[in-house]
Amino acid sequence: MTAAFAPSPQAPLPQAGEGSSGSIASARDLIESSGIDASEARSLLAFVLDAKREALIARPQQPVTPDGVARFRDLCARRARGEPVAYLLGQREFFGRLFRVDRSVLIPRPETECLVEAALRQMQGIFAPRVLDLGTGSGCIAITLALERPDAQVWAIDVSRSALEVARRNAAALSASVAFLCGCWFAPLRGRFELIVANPPYVASGDPHLEELSYEPREALTDGADGMSNLVQIARDAPKHLATGGALLLEHGYNQGRAVRKLMASSGFDSTHTLQDLAGIERVCVGRIN
Ligand code: GLN
Repeated sequence: MTAAFAPSPQAPLPQAGEGSSGSIASARDLIESSGIDASEARSLLAFVLDAKREALIARPQQPVTPDGVARFRDLCARRARGEPVAYLLGQREFFGRLFRVDRSVLIPRPETECLVEAALRQMQGIFAPRVLDLGTGSGCIAITLALERPDAQVWAIDVSRSALEVARRNAAALSASVAFLCGCWFAPLRGRFELIVANPPYVASGDPHLEELSYEPREALTDGADGMSNLVQIARDAPKHLATGGALLLEHGYNQGRAVRKLMASSGFDSTHTLQDLAGIERVCVGRIN
């Protein structure tokens, strides 16, 4: 073999299904050789092709152009480095609807759907309830409540202007009527509410789990201390902003159930109790002001 035919150490070797000049590849070959989880790869390829995942399953031999192959491989490389699929796609499903997300907001999570379900139960039997979502992020909680209960008046607050921009765009795209305010917890508010909900930054700064979440805004995940300080501030201030009979629903971390029940009881809440998420983990504390 002469030097002219030896692969140069700098040049990347052609990948499976792709000639050195970048030829057409099949969807199946691309997914199989992606180097990442096949289901995630299918989502990324569907995004590149502007197709449905189901279409790729139905037509695995579907050809992908060299440009599509290059874009797909770039997304797979970013995924392999740890970037969440939701940020790569710019969207995540929550309570059956698609929300746009970028790196200024936390990715909506299935455990937060439990908070939404509990909030909807609290609103049952109350006409036109006034609802407040603290630290709204992508707006997924406030917007879902507004859409599930069109009679409700929903306010949503966030301290981050870039997060509020994402939330406002989501509300517009989903035709939800939500009043967005910028500020820290209750600061920009007047008036009282029948329901206050919050999914605040509750992860302790020393939690090893934070490392896996490095792409998400740190200030949306942790208070930089033991994870309790925002929960404390919200529970202490909420009674002043609740109507008689009004409820507070706080999402919290896997090991904070007991502490948050105690906190809410000592802040003046009655019938304080904890709901578990679908994984059976204590996740949402509910209390009422009578
Ligand atoms: N539930 C998220 C997680 O642990 C944290 C969300 C939050 O801090 N509010 O991944």
